[in-house]
Amino acid sequence: MSSEKFVYSFKEGDGKNKQLLGGKGANLCEMTQFGLNVPPGFVITTSACLQYLEDGNKKLPEGIMEEVREQMQAVEKETGKGFGDGSNPLLVSVRSGSAMSMPGMMDTILNLGLNETTLQAVIKHTGDARFGYDAYRRFIQLFGKVALSVPDELFDAEFDAVKQKAHVTADVGLSADDLKEISERFLEVFQNHTGRPFPSDPYEQLEIAIKAVFGSWSGKRAVDYRREFKITPDMANGTAVNICTMVFGNRGDDSATGVAFTRNPGTGENKLYGEYLVNAQGEDVVAGIRTPKPIDKLTDEMPEMARQLEQLRQKLETHYREVQDFEFTIEQGTLYCLQTRNGKMNAVAMVRTSVEMVDEGLISKEEALLRIEPAYLEQMLYPRLSTSNTVKAVAQGLPASPGAASGMAVFDADRAEIVGRDQGKDVILLREETKPEDIHGFFAAQGILTSRGGKTSHAAVVARGMGKPCVAGAEGITVDVQRREAKIGEHIISEGDVITIDGSSGNVYMGRMEMVEPEFTEELNRLLRWADSSAKLLVMANADTPPDAVRAVKYGAQGIGLCRTERMFNATDRLPVVIDMIVAEDVGQRQAALDRLLPMQRDDFKEIFEAMAPRPVTIRLLDPPIHEFLPSEQQLESDIAKLKHLRHSVRGLSVLAGSMMLIENSENAKNDANSLRALIDETQVEQALEKKELMLKKVRMLIETNPMLGHRGVRLGITFPEIYSMQIRAILEATAECAKKDMEVNPQIMVPQVCTAEELKYVAEMVDNIREDVEKESGQKLNFKFGTMIEVVRACMRAESLVERAEFFSFGTNDLTQATFSFSREDAENKFLPMYNQNGILQDNPFEVLDEKGVGKLMKLAVDWGREVKPDLSVGICGEHGGHPASIDFCHRIGLNYVSCSGPRVPVARLAAAHASLKNDK
Ligand code: ADP
Ligand code: MG
Ligand code: MG
Repeated sequence: MSSEKFVYSFKEGDGKNKQLLGGKGANLCEMTQFGLNVPPGFVITTSACLQYLEDGNKKLPEGIMEEVREQMQAVEKETGKGFGDGSNPLLVSVRSGSAMSMPGMMDTILNLGLNETTLQAVIKHTGDARFGYDAYRRFIQLFGKVALSVPDELFDAEFDAVKQKAHVTADVGLSADDLKEISERFLEVFQNHTGRPFPSDPYEQLEIAIKAVFGSWSGKRAVDYRREFKITPDMANGTAVNICTMVFGNRGDDSATGVAFTRNPGTGENKLYGEYLVNAQGEDVVAGIRTPKPIDKLTDEMPEMARQLEQLRQKLETHYREVQDFEFTIEQGTLYCLQTRNGKMNAVAMVRTSVEMVDEGLISKEEALLRIEPAYLEQMLYPRLSTSNTVKAVAQGLPASPGAASGMAVFDADRAEIVGRDQGKDVILLREETKPEDIHGFFAAQGILTSRGGKTSHAAVVARGMGKPCVAGAEGITVDVQRREAKIGEHIISEGDVITIDGSSGNVYMGRMEMVEPEFTEELNRLLRWADSSAKLLVMANADTPPDAVRAVKYGAQGIGLCRTERMFNATDRLPVVIDMIVAEDVGQRQAALDRLLPMQRDDFKEIFEAMAPRPVTIRLLDPPIHEFLPSEQQLESDIAKLKHLRHSVRGLSVLAGSMMLIENSENAKNDANSLRALIDETQVEQALEKKELMLKKVRMLIETNPMLGHRGVRLGITFPEIYSMQIRAILEATAECAKKDMEVNPQIMVPQVCTAEELKYVAEMVDNIREDVEKESGQKLNFKFGTMIEVVRACMRAESLVERAEFFSFGTNDLTQATFSFSREDAENKFLPMYNQNGILQDNPFEVLDEKGVGKLMKLAVDWGREVKPDLSVGICGEHGGHPASIDFCHRIGLNYVSCSGPRVPVARLAAAHASLKNDK
């Protein structure tokens, strides 16, 4: 026989032990013990539940019912009522409750303890037959349904039949006699369905109910729910059962029931928020049978109760130091609290309440920060669809970049520019997939929608970088650029039709939808400033253009951790020059193109420096393989075919012009022939054709089997030194111009793809030479840093030798992850990773969640080896992981100096950086 205690009175249970008593039970104990008016009762532990389920022969663990009886006697003594007593009966509710709130679990049984005898006593005691029969029929139905699975429909049919017979439409119209008849019919339903009479012994009722609650823990609904929401046994294991004295909100107009939040969960306003119903029981509020009144009304209807409720609100908050979501019932002028738990709020309310509770002295700044999950802030940082939206989505893709946007559908980047930039309209760029040459369309569009590609497709990556909403791979859509329309099921989207995309859910809608704009509130700013002072890690932004930089500052970035120069090359006025540079036949031609690019890049850098001054700006020299700037081989082949066709037609036309005179030798014909000749210019077509053919030749020369492991990064810089020279010069000249204006700027030149110290040395010497020149030309002393990305496995292994030339390291964890796993990202994510995740071969997608054990270990080695040589070496991360809270925590633990992520994620990262230091450095 075990000596374990299974049953705790609300007066003795440990309010902190939610694992044992469940959330509801623990709070009922705690509230009782700090003096709130909770109806007396007791809790049966989750441990009893687990033992009952383990045993498997439907018997409660030994000794439980004895403990229950003992506790029940104490309640009887306290209430002056008797369980099953024929003159003043005690009724109770039986409520489930595990450590985590779980809607999949069992419903509550109210009014347990009623039978023919106790019912009569209740009627006599209250003098209210209608109340008595109403309570009885509720109990029979709930007990039947919840404990013995009698279907609701069987009860509802009888209920409706009586209603019809009595010619009433609303339940309140039923008389005591009607309700009596209903309860009699219900008893029959019960007997017919279960094959046994309704149990009249209250303790038998109770035992059946307890077993049913325990059993519901392993019921299908609950098991599915736990699997879906990944609730593991250490989060919640078994359900407790709460037995609680019934109180009645349906005893007349001085009675009521309601639910409330201690603060407004939508706005955070510090004011009671909730609803109530007069003369009703708890479940009526939830069931929506009657429309409840806003809590403010209580002041008029029951001023004394309103005052007590306000007191209750204060007591709850002072005690829990957290916004509470609670249930109350008023029985004939007495207020009871039936449940409380921490309130669930939206992000706006979380932030506001955090800040205000600090101001009120209720919580500390650290608690205010830790109260909010960093990722939760995302809600506040992107426009989102209004929650009142009921329109159905017409297509679904991948949520590739968060936020929502509405606009006219356009099918190519040029059109996006005309309608979006020139005509100032909102547009959504809708393509099968996007390419680097579509970049100007991204700038002009509010959002991007593609029918192909994954979360790492070009569209997704670029949109995330720009902080624009993107839905990718919406396979239900067929795009026909030629006909300028797209098909989704039976819907046709013509160019110019307005659509809405939600990059947070992946949904696509027809028409314009109501949006909620992001709210970068003053409270959020204050909270994030506290975060900055708690955090050890600095948070920087990935930003490629001057507008990105301005936005990064607004989000509170302490610098730019990654500026990708190739993004500037893709702008419409640059790309042709870049292409000239690539297709150049010799060094002279190449230099001419570079001379035109230099001032453009210098101006970009200057603007970015000015936006960020004096914060550091880390500029990565050109990284992608250069063929990425050229059209694809396929595209060129089709262009050439078209041009050849055109040449043929043009030739035909000039023949026609010549032969017109043959047909009709008149002045008129001569004029026609001349204007035709003026129209057709064969040399133009010839030139275009020549250029395309040259480009095709170049593209074929540049084609690589594995471009990501090919001719890119520093390899490119060394083989085409004039490209890196131009970029370095542009950076340093911009620095000199700022210095001339006495502006403090802090550029950092960063070399990509380095694997040996020799590569770094080669570029460093270029930098030294150009520095000398620029300093001489400008007369300014240049202040900047030189460093390397660490994104190649060998670079990690050779950290101590790289550090001789590098003043900083920045981990490029996207490439480093590819290299460490030897997975090509696109192929992995589209082919085998989902299956690996499902089968538990890999827990997470390492491209989303930093792989601490592998990639992380390499990072740690590189940091340690680098700092052995240079103890003050600055180290950061600029891969996509830099904005991921768990990865940020890891970066903190291995002692990085900064993380860098896309602009809109900066606030999330700032809070995550604070969490990391508050949780790790106690
Ligand atoms: P849930 O987990 O669904 O909130 P509850 O156990 O809180 O379930 O009960 C459902 C409804 O019954 C609530 O409105 C609650 O206030 C009410 N209720 C539960 N126990 C009692 C009681 N002893 N007296 C009066 N109402 C009760
Ligand atoms: Mg429930
Ligand atoms: Mg409840």
